[in-house]
Amino acid sequence: MEKKEQLYEGKAKKVFATENPDYVIVSYKDDATAFNGLKKGTISGKGVINNKMSNMMMQMLEKKGIPTHFVKEIDDRNTVVKKVQIVPLEVIIRNVAAGSFSKRYGVAEGTQFKAPTIEFSYKNDDLGDPLINDYHALALNLASEKEIETIKKMAFAVNSEMIAFFKKLNIDLIDFKLEFGRYKGQIVLADEISPDTCRFWEAGSWDTTKHVSLDKDRFRRDLGGVEDAYNEIFKRLMGD
Ligand code: UDP
Repeated sequence: MEKKEQLYEGKAKKVFATENPDYVIVSYKDDATAFNGLKKGTISGKGVINNKMSNMMMQMLEKKGIPTHFVKEIDDRNTVVKKVQIVPLEVIIRNVAAGSFSKRYGVAEGTQFKAPTIEFSYKNDDLGDPLINDYHALALNLASEKEIETIKKMAFAVNSEMIAFFKKLNIDLIDFKLEFGRYKGQIVLADEISPDTCRFWEAGSWDTTKHVSLDKDRFRRDLGGVEDAYNEIFKRLMGD
């Protein structure tokens, strides 16, 4: 499949048309941003890792019965995906308190929840992706009631599968962000699943001492070893 004109350039990816109107090619960059684009940088090799990891996750989830946008990996940085209409919601699932949740509700990072939680943000850079609830999403016509129900079910199913998957790699899945799209009348999982969009903590590193982050928090919080963290996750995914 060949890249045609560029349709879009985002913070971490470019999207190109293909000869098939149902498909686009996503091209992963090494560019990193945080805090709604205020912090910018490069994480060398990130594009390759995020592309390959995301594809691996999407294929794992497909096998578990969760529909995704994944079609075919072309090379290290490029993947063919279904051309979806993105639902303008950032869907965040959390298992353990961290980041904005800890700040907003005054809960220490690392506090284990009784049950996983879900939240929606309205995907809108100008507004800084404000937190919204189901009723706001409905009122703003961002998704239908049925779509919201489907998205919730799928997001929790993704969480269960991913917790189990990462447990085997000795990694605790703290929280993550998903995006969904509409494709031929169906809601499918879209965007990416990578250390850019998930918090991964070294298992057992955090109940007694401070946690070890293997994700974009190393970039956001200037913890150092950013590339090493991405490489470590990738190494475990590859089974060595
Ligand atoms: N996240 C993301 N994109 C965003 C905001 C959050 O991928 O624009 C991910 C983030 O990596 C983390 C989870 O969603 O795994 C929850 O993030 P949080 O709301 O705590 O925001 P943060 O502390 O990252 O600002």
